[in-house]
Amino acid sequence: MLQQTQVKTVIPYFNKFTKKFKTIKALSKSHEKEILKMWEGLGYYRRARNLLACSKILVQNYKSRLPRSIIEIKKLPGVGDYTANALLGLVYNEPRIAVDGNVKRVFSRNLNIEERKINFDKFVKKNKKKLFIAKRNDDFVEALMEFGALICKPKDPNCLTCCLNKTCKYFKSNKKIKNIRNKMIKNKSFDIFCYLNKRKQIALTKNNQISFLKNFNLPEIKETNNSFKNQNWIFLKKYKNSISNLKLNINLYYKFSNKIPRMYNWYSLKNNKEFVPSFTKKIFSHLSTLF
Ligand code: SF4
Repeated sequence: MLQQTQVKTVIPYFNKFTKKFKTIKALSKSHEKEILKMWEGLGYYRRARNLLACSKILVQNYKSRLPRSIIEIKKLPGVGDYTANALLGLVYNEPRIAVDGNVKRVFSRNLNIEERKINFDKFVKKNKKKLFIAKRNDDFVEALMEFGALICKPKDPNCLTCCLNKTCKYFKSNKKIKNIRNKMIKNKSFDIFCYLNKRKQIALTKNNQISFLKNFNLPEIKETNNSFKNQNWIFLKKYKNSISNLKLNINLYYKFSNKIPRMYNWYSLKNNKEFVPSFTKKIFSHLSTLF
C-alpha cells in the first residue's frame, strides 16, 4: 500500500483491510472485486491484484508463511529487490537494507557523493559490519527509510538537530553535493469518447490499450491526434489528471446513442456498487453535468 503513496493516505485503508482480513488465509479466499472496492481511491490497482495473488500463493505453497529465500520471495507477483529486502529485514530480522530514494539520499549525503556515482549494492555489502551492529535489523530497515523521509529530507534537511551531523560529510563540507534526483514527469494528451444514454448510463469496455488502467472498464481512450475531425462527437471539456509521474491532458467528448460497439456494456454514472478507479470517477462526474 505504501508504494508511491504517503503513510497518512494509507492508514485508513490499512486499518480497514487488516480488520476485514485478519489472516493471509482470509485474504486468499476473497475475490478481486471485493479487494478492488476496498482499494478504491488508493490508486495503483495492480498492487491490490498482486497482494491477492501473493496471498493465494503463500497459502497454497508456503503454509501461509513468507519464504526465507530472496529468490523465492522475488517470484511472488509484484515483489522486486526493494520489497524482498524490506520483507526479509522486517519479517525475519535479516541484515538487509531496502534501498529506495530516501535511503539513497541518506547514504549519498553522508558520503557527500552524488547518488549516481554510488553502487548501493556494493556499498551495503562492503559496509555490512558497520551497518548492522545493533542486531535490530527489522528496526534498522524501517528507521533508515523514515530517517530519509523525516530528517534527511529532499529539501531542507534537519542537519542542525540531526544525530549524524558529527560525521556527515554533507553537513561538514563547504562543497555540498546537489540533489539532482528529480522525478521525470511525462506529459501525455488523451481524447476520451463516451457513449451515453438518457438513463444516465455510460458505455464502458475492458478492451482498451491504456497500460496504467489495464483490465478496468473504460470508455474509448486514444492518444490525442491533432487531425481528429469526427463531428459526431461533442466536445465537453478539457481537464488535467495526474497519475504517478504522468501528467495527462484530457479532452472529453460524448454522444448520446443507444447503439454501442460490441464489447461495451452500460454502467450507471451514479450508483455503482462495483469498484470504479478515480480516473473513471472523474469522467463520470464531468459527464453528470449533462443531466
Ligand atoms: S546532517 Fe543533514 S545531510 Fe547529514 S544525514 Fe543529517 S540531515 Fe542528512
